[in-house]
Amino acid sequence: MTIRVWDYLTEYGAEEADLLDAVRTVFASGQLVLGPAVEGFERAFADFHGVRHAVGVDNGTNAVELALRSAGVGPGDEVVTVSNTAAPTVVAIDAIGAVPVFVDVRDDDTYLMDVAQVRDAITPRTRAVLPVHLYGQCVEMEPLTTLAAEAGIAVVEDCAQAHAARHHGRLAGTFGRTAAYSFYPTKVLGAYGDGGAVLTDDDEAAARTRRLRYYGMERTYYVVERPALNSRLDAVQAEILRRKLGRLDDYVAARREVARRYDEALAGTDLVLPAVAPGNEHSYYLYVVRHPERDLVLKHLAERGIALTVSYPWPVHTMSGFAHLGVPRGSLPVTEAAAEEIFSLPMYPHLSPEIQDTVIENLLDVLRDL
Ligand SMILES: *Cc1c(COP(=O)(O)O)cnc(C)c1O
Repeated sequence: MTIRVWDYLTEYGAEEADLLDAVRTVFASGQLVLGPAVEGFERAFADFHGVRHAVGVDNGTNAVELALRSAGVGPGDEVVTVSNTAAPTVVAIDAIGAVPVFVDVRDDDTYLMDVAQVRDAITPRTRAVLPVHLYGQCVEMEPLTTLAAEAGIAVVEDCAQAHAARHHGRLAGTFGRTAAYSFYPTKVLGAYGDGGAVLTDDDEAAARTRRLRYYGMERTYYVVERPALNSRLDAVQAEILRRKLGRLDDYVAARREVARRYDEALAGTDLVLPAVAPGNEHSYYLYVVRHPERDLVLKHLAERGIALTVSYPWPVHTMSGFAHLGVPRGSLPVTEAAAEEIFSLPMYPHLSPEIQDTVIENLLDVLRDL
């Protein structure tokens, strides 16, 4: 049996009765699109964060697009973000016809946006800054929100990896004008299929997001004001997510325990372990380590039946699909160097100590024999 970075079947085994009951509830409700399941999850997700609005959408990529558009970003506007993210962060900017502008990340093993570089990246065309709370911990938000307020630009948070992460006690997703979530199955709060949400305290941004996900209509009027998308959260996924939201704190606690065991077992090796930035409570979407012989380590582990992955092997600015941005290799040195050396260890709430110990033992063996 191959050991993988992520697996949901143990969780499914433990929660099957509740999950299938969620499916039955929606099928028997008489309302298959939007309706009480979606509204119920939206209310619960907003309340969890202590904000006024959550709008369920069909996936995290469209959540980023709608969060940006609802915050006022349009064609030709510049959006400051990072290149070491899931490509959809940048695909969403591109889908609007907006222009991504990249800053580098901090050289402190957190791989988070270097907020000190944002000021120089702002031009008269900048409309928003899009921090990515990468791997489950928050970008330094106080200087960023202050800077954005001074510059008159919106902060839009990409929270796809940071459900329930806290920064100086405050939840991710509560700092920006809007925030985007993905509920892709691997995420800290994962659906059994696709899903996403936009979170906001701003009534107008929430109303705009609701129009944008519904063809550009106010639901009751059947009139398109400005053509938009169909980007609704599926009702079955919403009901599953509402139930799983009640277990989110337990999932995060389990992820932290997995991280603690790795921290303890791998201290003193040649691996660079993930750093937690000051003030952060990490949700550990991923446990990312670093080694100069990364490719060799992964090859030896694969031979032992442990298939690890790299998030992400290619910074977005080096991808052929973004060559038109004209951002040369070498321009984001910390991002580019990290991409050569990082890799992810198995991380999910139901990872058993036995499987984790197998990973640790094999990894220690491989490192010793390099
Ligand atoms: C997963 C992810 C997305 C995209 O979410 P999907 O639901 O897969 O569309 C966007 N941004 C980040 C940082 C992600 O990790």
